[in-house]
Amino acid sequence: MLRKRVLVTGGAGFLGSHLCERLLADGADVLCVDNYFTGTKDHIVHLLGHPHFEVLRHDVTFPLYVEVDEIYNLACPASPVHYQFDPVQTTKTSVHGAINMLGLAKRVKAKIFQASTSEVYGDPVVHPQTEDYRGNVNPIGPRACYDEGKRCAETLFFDYHRQHKLNIRVARIFNTYGPRMHPNDGRVVSNFVIQALKGQPITVFGDGQQTRAFCYVDDLIDGFVRLMTAPDDVTGPINLGNPHEFTIAQLAELVIDLTGSKSKLVNRPLPVDDPMQRCPDIAKARSLLSWEPKVPLREGLKKTIDYFERLLSASKDKVPAAG
Ligand code: NAD
Ligand code: UDP
Repeated sequence: MLRKRVLVTGGAGFLGSHLCERLLADGADVLCVDNYFTGTKDHIVHLLGHPHFEVLRHDVTFPLYVEVDEIYNLACPASPVHYQFDPVQTTKTSVHGAINMLGLAKRVKAKIFQASTSEVYGDPVVHPQTEDYRGNVNPIGPRACYDEGKRCAETLFFDYHRQHKLNIRVARIFNTYGPRMHPNDGRVVSNFVIQALKGQPITVFGDGQQTRAFCYVDDLIDGFVRLMTAPDDVTGPINLGNPHEFTIAQLAELVIDLTGSKSKLVNRPLPVDDPMQRCPDIAKARSLLSWEPKVPLREGLKKTIDYFERLLSASKDKVPAAG
């Protein structure tokens, strides 16, 4: 059987590792590229014995010469703690990474997918956000290295499409959660679940009335694959996320309920440029990809809690017993 050769950059990350699994299950030959900045081999170790899975340690800010049919470009730290750690490298990863992967796609005539983000809308003044909303981004704030890097990557994708006739797919991903989220990345779902499991205070930033809409990882990955296999005129940008909005305070209560934790909520200052509301309009994904999220927050959270419970007990096992 002639297998499609698929490159996944950022393949050892949270989303990337789930995507590698899905592509292998669909019969592809997968090349995972990662520099392990936020990703880990633990996320892909179970795939290493697979005859159609290969891993390459590589930084996408440097050119890459491989022969593939499709590229999913996911390499980029996604959480504020990580992308603000080395903001210059974050912009380079988005921009130089996009240039390198687009150059590769052009040379080998591969179809190429970009993991863009709802952050291109910044702190939006339009709700819910449709793809033609141009956004409200602060170009010099602490989130700019990520937001503007991703915006510039989108520009590059569309210029390569117009100028070089590249077959592109651009997904604007909204908050996604699930097993293999980074435990220390400060994202709200991982923070709340870990705090609840450890019986620590649940840190609600601001008054907790800001909203987010949370998509379970399996739903999102299904959206990626549908976008990649859609007809060639479906370039995007296309919003992928769960349109069901929750306040952060509601999320905290739900996590306490599902874990049976005795943790109490504590309020902390709202971070700079933290958007007050974010919710995708997924009409385009519904009509063009026949896609919409299926996993309710309660169900997805249960699986995520199971994952973090296992992770926490495994890390306890690694600590030598006192005495
Ligand atoms: P993640 O941090 O778990 O994964 C990113 C991966 O990219 C990691 O494995 C990391 O080591 C790798 N990486 C970073 N810089 C690299 C470089 N220069 N060269 C090679 N590899 C590099 O994050 P994630 O949540 O899996 O996000 C994946 C993609 O999806 C990112 O592009 C992110 O911007 C986008 N996204 C994610 C979300 C979300 O809710 N998780 C939302 C919007 C967009
Ligand atoms: N948040 C919170 N407590 C935390 C971590 C995050 O209240 O311990 C809030 C944060 O201020 C934001 C929302 O949860 O309003 C989502 O934050 P996250 O970093 O997960 O994603 P993003 O801001 O990128 O949507």
